[in-house]
Formats: sequence, C-alpha cells, structure tokens
Amino acid sequence: MQNVKKHHQGGFNRPRLDLVQCLFCKGKAVVKGVFYELVCTDCNGSGWVVEGTRLVLPLEELVTQLSFKLQQAQRQIEALKRPAKVVGPQQQYQEPNRLGAGGTNYTGD
Ligand SMILES: [Zn+2]
Repeated sequence: MQNVKKHHQGGFNRPRLDLVQCLFCKGKAVVKGVFYELVCTDCNGSGWVVEGTRLVLPLEELVTQLSFKLQQAQRQIEALKRPAKVVGPQQQYQEPNRLGAGGTNYTGD
C-alpha cells in the first residue's frame, strides 16, 4: 500500500488518510488508568487511527494528518457559521419584499 517516506516530502502532495476514531480509547486519546488517565498507546495519544488498517501513525505523520482533519473541520464550522455566504442572486429575487418596491399591483383601497 502506501509507503510513506520522509525523503519524498515536498515532491508530492501528502496523502490524505482516512482517520477513524480509535476503538481502544474511543477517540478520547486517553484511557483511564488506576489513578489517572494514561495516553492511549493504540493511537499514539491522538484518538485517531488510519481507517481499515488500524495503523498507528508515527508522530510527525500524525500531526500532518490531524492538521488536514482539523482544517476540514474548521471549513465545515465556518460554513455553518455563515450560511448567507452561499446564497446566490437568484435566491434574493425570491424574497417576498418585491411587493413594496414597485407597488404597481397595490391599489391601496
Ligand atoms: Zn486510542
């Protein structure tokens, strides 16, 4: 499958791996020890593993993949924050206030 090597960094786009929640810690990145929480070793303390393979990513690769995931999540959050941004011109024409603009159909009596 994918052979991720440091030497290839820069030449190609970094692969976007599908990350899924770690089953061991259920995505929490930590597990409950006897006295305190311990970093989950199954996912390198990230809460995420590579989908399908359940591979634990090396830390430097994990950081990049988590960044991709975070960027994706932030874009979704931004999109949810500003739904008006997507509204095109044709949407505005459907606004009901066109009656007040011309007033040609309004007899007033
Ligand atoms: Zn875990």
